[in-house]
Amino acid sequence: MLKSHEKFHSKNGKRLLLIADDELVNREILRSVLESDYELVFAEDGAEALREARRAKDVLSLIMLDLMMPVMDGIEALRAMRADEDLASIPVIVATSDQEAEVKCLTIGANDFISKPYPRPSVILARVQRAIELNEDRLIINSTERDELTGLYNREFFYRYAEQFDRHHTDLAMDAVIVDINHFHHINERFGSAYGDEVLRRVGERLRASYSQAGGIVCRREADTFMAYCPHGNDHARTLEQASEAIAYGGDAHARMWLRMGVYEDVDKSLEVERRFDRAQMASDSVRGSFARTVGTYDATLHERELFHEQLIDDFDAAIRERQFIVVFQPKYDIQSGSPVLVSAEALVRWDHPTLGMVSPGDFVPLFEENGLVQQLDTYVWRETCHRIARWKERLAVSVPVSVNVSRVDMYDPHLPEALVSLLEDDGLTTDDLLLEITESAYTQDADQIITMVRGLRDLGFKVEMDDFGTGYSSLSMISTLPIDALKIDMQFVSSAFEEGGDTRLIEIIIDIADYLNVPVIAEGVETKAQMLALRDLGCDRAQGYYFSKPLPVGLFEELLVQEGSQGAALRASFTPSRAIAPRRRSLVRNDVSEEARS
Ligand code: C2E
Ligand code: MG
Ligand code: MG
Repeated sequence: MLKSHEKFHSKNGKRLLLIADDELVNREILRSVLESDYELVFAEDGAEALREARRAKDVLSLIMLDLMMPVMDGIEALRAMRADEDLASIPVIVATSDQEAEVKCLTIGANDFISKPYPRPSVILARVQRAIELNEDRLIINSTERDELTGLYNREFFYRYAEQFDRHHTDLAMDAVIVDINHFHHINERFGSAYGDEVLRRVGERLRASYSQAGGIVCRREADTFMAYCPHGNDHARTLEQASEAIAYGGDAHARMWLRMGVYEDVDKSLEVERRFDRAQMASDSVRGSFARTVGTYDATLHERELFHEQLIDDFDAAIRERQFIVVFQPKYDIQSGSPVLVSAEALVRWDHPTLGMVSPGDFVPLFEENGLVQQLDTYVWRETCHRIARWKERLAVSVPVSVNVSRVDMYDPHLPEALVSLLEDDGLTTDDLLLEITESAYTQDADQIITMVRGLRDLGFKVEMDDFGTGYSSLSMISTLPIDALKIDMQFVSSAFEEGGDTRLIEIIIDIADYLNVPVIAEGVETKAQMLALRDLGCDRAQGYYFSKPLPVGLFEELLVQEGSQGAALRASFTPSRAIAPRRRSLVRNDVSEEARS
């Protein structure tokens, strides 16, 4: 375990001591003994000592107090210091030739004594150092809750420590570092949480060893994220390599789990500590999912993005008020029935920003998920969508079910079901009209909670499509119990299957999974006729993509509805799976789960 006093040291940082003695010769002796290890300030009487101590209260590590001084003697000064909240915790060593005074000083709060005439320099140094260490240990023990699992500091203490460190080392350049484990949940899912804990302990221990050597400290921020604060100049890539060895011990079993790091170098100390680590987190997120790059650095590009994000957050309220968010509609087609037929649509949001122009949801949805604003945004989109569906029924006499995206953040809100039901009621709609898309990664991040919520929604009659399937790394055991009504194959599988050298095997597997769950498959991002035909032959039920139509503003989408509506009653088709099973399909054993999914 990290010895606490290591942490206040750095290669060139020095602690500050106050020496109060009225005699020049004593001050000079102490100066010569201490000045190479400490920063020193001097006072010539008790009153001056008190003033100096108050001035330097935030950075003062120790006071050496002579007892016999003019104006205010040492005893009086000590009493005043102990009565002063700001000074009470600064250790005081009393220097005296009067052995009788020792007991008295102890009772009023001196930490140690040095006798006069002074002992050997090494003794003075040792006592000073020990008094500082004991005091810092005490402060740390009082304030810290260590993380039980790893023995590292917890987040609150870590931030406080970083602030304190900065006060002692104003001129020292520091780095803020975040270390995340990619796909850590695999380990828990496959091997159980006790094993996962062991992995975390190992990683934490490696990081601690490496960073404490560099004069820094480490904490576990939460789950599988660690933070380090250390003097600039450390070889972070090397540290990451060492910590990665802690994962490698699992061999192939850990193949899909690796570490990534974000570094904010030479932090701007005028920023709050938390903000510095936000920047490190941005850097880490910039290499998320990449095998090739595991260390991300906060740089000018990320800084611009941060400013851009700040603007988006600042402008959000006005955007809702002024209805700058626009809902567009992208049709989904049934591709199993002769020529493709429009059967439903997806509502997607755009931001028509007054100065930035059209901003795509990829730029703001993840951001608003981080700070919870997405809930307000989604409610806005759902309400707009409901109004539109109701209008189409009324004005165009078509019933087209529209799916809306439901963020994982929405799924944590226990009032979500009633909020959705009330939106439907406002427009006289039912759960057949509004479908819900939930991204697969939401399921894998907090499976139990999400699955419970999805069950509740389905009990109310809502149909739930699992969006972006294939990117969320669901485990097979989880898939078999998923409460869903359709799978949407993520578009990356479609594009990579049909690029040069690609093949459709992954798509076939996903279709098999959908068969097993007895739910239809929707392909996203279908851009060409050849793709559409191939997907149809593989047994894919529905398709959505630029080949059919880009997401359309409401006016154009209505024109499309009128055109398609004139071609038949397909738009009134219900959502229940109604696809021909392609001949190549293996027949799979159905179990209770698929019965449930069918009902
Ligand atoms: P998503 O739900 O998977 O939506 C599909 C995305 O693919 C849309 O991007 C759509 O415009 C795009 N797309 C459709 N067909 C094609 C194609 O053939 N080729 C290509 N390259 N792209 C195609 P968009 O509108 O930029 O949305 C991105 C993501 O933002 C959505 O992914 C969804 O996760 C999120 N999103 C969009 N609107 C909302 C919303 O109202 N609420 C929430 N929570 N998320 C939303
Ligand atoms: Mg979607
Ligand atoms: Mg999608």
